[in-house]
Amino acid sequence: MKSSEFLYVANWKMQIPFKKAISFCWNHKDGLESLSSQENVRVVLCPSFDALHLIAQVFINSSLSVGAQNCAAHESGPYTGEVSARSISDIGCEFCILGHSERRSHFLETDELVSKKLQQVLKHGLHPIVCVGETKKQFDAQQTKSVIEAQVSSVCKVVQDAAPDGTVCIAYEPVWAIGTGLVANNQQIEAVFSQIRSIANKMAPNARIILLYGGSVNDQNAQQLKQVADIGGFLIGGASLDFQKFEKIVT
Ligand code: PEP
Repeated sequence: MKSSEFLYVANWKMQIPFKKAISFCWNHKDGLESLSSQENVRVVLCPSFDALHLIAQVFINSSLSVGAQNCAAHESGPYTGEVSARSISDIGCEFCILGHSERRSHFLETDELVSKKLQQVLKHGLHPIVCVGETKKQFDAQQTKSVIEAQVSSVCKVVQDAAPDGTVCIAYEPVWAIGTGLVANNQQIEAVFSQIRSIANKMAPNARIILLYGGSVNDQNAQQLKQVADIGGFLIGGASLDFQKFEKIVT
């Protein structure tokens, strides 16, 4: 990944069934590739597991990257229903989202589990995109700093042990902003980014940390959010399901 690249990570969650996901890619192949081939732009599509291999094949010779939304915490073994980081890498993915708030809340993923997954992702040469952020309740209780401290420290500990000079994307996604239409303001994001930087500088000083923002990014607010100091990209849910909206965010 070039340091000047701005990442546009499309998190499709479980919103698009297999046939529709494949049609979306064929219908917008040229458009997606031309967005991704712009100077200093990297588009990363993260469909659900069923479509991952085929979509990685569709874009195999392009500058567009493909990522998974999750992976197993183990290398291999009797873990029914899980998909290993190694398989994700084998099928041509470059990225893997970890610790999304939906996984933390619906599937009870802890920082400890996210750490194990992160070890796998780093071991298999994928670029991790680790999501951190406070819930509405934590925000109201002014606990953002302590939540970020715990989540980011846990990430940095693994990075320092497993890949001290590796590249890691950390996506600040306030949970109250995901899918709600509410967006953190630039000052709030900058405060969290600078906290993440200072933790990373202390705990994983040689790692390359790329800071992303996610939470109701759309074609109306993207330009303003691009002004956030130190921002390296967006993690985009809802607005990535509509090619025209996604295109406006990128251009
Ligand atoms: C997300 O799910 O990571 C996300 C940021 O969703 P949305 O853009 O829809 O808020």
